[in-house]
Amino acid sequence: MTAAIAIRGVSFRYGATPALEGINVDIPAGEFFGLIGPNGAGKSTLVKLMLGLLRPDSGAIYIRGRAPAKARDLIGYVPQHASFSRDFPILVQEVVMLGAYGAGYWRGGFRRYGWFNRHERAAAANAMRAVEIESIADKPIRGLSGGELQRMLIARALIGKPEILILDEPTSNIDLRAEESIFSLLKRYNERMTIIVVSHDVAFISGYAHRVGCLNRTLVCHATESIDGRTIEELYGGSIRMIRHSAVAPPRPAADQKRIKP
Ligand code: ADP
Repeated sequence: MTAAIAIRGVSFRYGATPALEGINVDIPAGEFFGLIGPNGAGKSTLVKLMLGLLRPDSGAIYIRGRAPAKARDLIGYVPQHASFSRDFPILVQEVVMLGAYGAGYWRGGFRRYGWFNRHERAAAANAMRAVEIESIADKPIRGLSGGELQRMLIARALIGKPEILILDEPTSNIDLRAEESIFSLLKRYNERMTIIVVSHDVAFISGYAHRVGCLNRTLVCHATESIDGRTIEELYGGSIRMIRHSAVAPPRPAADQKRIKP
């Protein structure tokens, strides 16, 4: 069976700086995979490789058996909301609709920037409903809370009907309640799609992920239940506190996975 993501012997360096060495992991369809590691561990680099924005120096990555650059339609990427500027005068629903560019809803030729057809508008409405932000659709993004901004970015990623959702630090700088509700939302989506969350937040990851990949230039994967204080201490050098959350059920077989309709 083809893995959602297969990473085979991947190494990458920026000039003389090695960022990743000999990374091997298969992420099956339906897995909720947490990727953790300290600053500079190579997390962003690995995400860029999975998105096809960088190419490995050695080894290969396959997204459902395809090269990442040819599999962009399969992946929804949610960037760090903290790095998303709120200064731009744009409404929530407009940001969500931007996710429709390249998602195959537009059948015509030329379009002026900012024009969307009724299919795109309907898909955006569905995606906003799915993450429960319909009530703020007409709000400018300037006044959004961190949690609202994060949901908006998830809706923007869902509009392309991805099989795989990759989120970069989805809960940094948001309060505990918003954090819990975003992870619950992701857990629900995990019934229909593979989820990869990059986070420094070991505590939350361990409550939701099936498996955790500990990255520090090299990658070691652990079943979530087997992560303990020592694993984390080895990874972070003892600078992090570990809280255990409840165990989670293993992923359902791939045959059960459905593509999401945002
Ligand atoms: P993380 O996301 O875990 O913080 P990164 O993937 O950003 O880690 O970085 C991994 C390593 O690669 C670090 O040593 C970082 O300094 C280096 N690095 C990242 N981006 C660049 C770049 N554009 N040019 C040179 N070195 C980089």
